[in-house]
Amino acid sequence: MQTPQNIRVHREDGLLEIVWSDHDVSRLPFRLLRQSCRCALCIDEFTGRQILDPQTVPETIQPQNVSLTGNYALQFVWSDGHDSGLYTWKHLRELADSESARLQGND
Ligand SMILES: [Zn+2]
Repeated sequence: MQTPQNIRVHREDGLLEIVWSDHDVSRLPFRLLRQSCRCALCIDEFTGRQILDPQTVPETIQPQNVSLTGNYALQFVWSDGHDSGLYTWKHLRELADSESARLQGND
């Protein structure tokens, strides 16, 4: 499994940059990250349905704090006050892959 070698928060660009152990670089917009939260408040843990309405996440959402949890995940404190989500490396990698597929699909 890929793990991050370097993680940078680019506030002026509104994105998180991850350099992976295979030297791939992922750039994940803050809003996409916040919309993709998988905590029990955002996703129904029994049905897997998304409880969070992604449209309600502000365009200007920012992480107030980003911290490592164990050595397997990132935890964000978002500017809307939400802080219960854990983003595992696997989840971040999946998000990065689907985001780059989406960007390529739009060309
Ligand atoms: Zn959440």
